[in-house]
Amino acid sequence: MAASIPLSSRPSLSAISRVARCFTSASPSQPTPSSPSSSPPLFAFSTNPDLARRQDAERRNVQWVFLGCPGVGKGTYASRLSTLLGVPHIATGDLVREELSASGPLSHQLKEIVNQGKLVSDEIIISLLSKRLKAGEAQGESGFILDGFPRTTKQAEILERVTDIDLVVNLKLREDVLMEKCLGRRICGQCGKNFNVASINVKGENGNPGISMDPLLPPAHCMRKLISRADDTEEVVKERLRIYWEKSQPVEDFYRRQGKLMEFDLPGGIPESWPKLLEALNLDDFEEKQSAAA
Ligand SMILES: [Zn+2]
Repeated sequence: MAASIPLSSRPSLSAISRVARCFTSASPSQPTPSSPSSSPPLFAFSTNPDLARRQDAERRNVQWVFLGCPGVGKGTYASRLSTLLGVPHIATGDLVREELSASGPLSHQLKEIVNQGKLVSDEIIISLLSKRLKAGEAQGESGFILDGFPRTTKQAEILERVTDIDLVVNLKLREDVLMEKCLGRRICGQCGKNFNVASINVKGENGNPGISMDPLLPPAHCMRKLISRADDTEEVVKERLRIYWEKSQPVEDFYRRQGKLMEFDLPGGIPESWPKLLEALNLDDFEEKQSAAA
């Protein structure tokens, strides 16, 4: 593969600063002065003519987005990659949960919204993300993998004004398999961790490969406290997926037009999918080097 992945260890925080600044101010971001660069672009799909940004990208770590419908396992893959690459895995769902258990004006506002069963607005998600990025920057973080953000084209546009998202990975799974997986979801009522009791074994047919996925079973101490969400019924899951696809289409199109969208069809569970995903991201060598160094 010709494309190389930016894996420099020298962090540059200006991109994160720009995101944080834009999220907290209404003024448009200032253009960065350009300077010539002789290095090749990091990604073949780069359409951004701003060379300063490109130089910036060479110094920092990856700035990726993970898309995928509920149940596809995007959190799992985003989290594994963030560990491998040494970048934070920022899931907006986690940010909301953390804020709910904190105190302060934003937390108070958030609790009211959640108690009334309303959707958390773009503005609140953006201020949570901004807070998270600033805190990370203060601790010397570089790069990020965003999970669950952007949800809307409006959010994608805000992100685009201030930083270069290098790559958007769209994880996909066959609908029948996805349905089974969603219905197998369980959460531990005590520690809040997610598991999956579905054991999937779909035979290949009509040229499509078969898919088998092992359940993700909890440790013994969680086993007896497993609960499934009351709304994880077939009908509700179908509707949730339909809504997801309807809403995600514009976001996918937004990144597809920029040549940043990488579609990835999951070939099975983690043991089958992880090496294939690394290969697609041109990181298979990187993992070997990491394990050799460990
Ligand atoms: Zn537990």
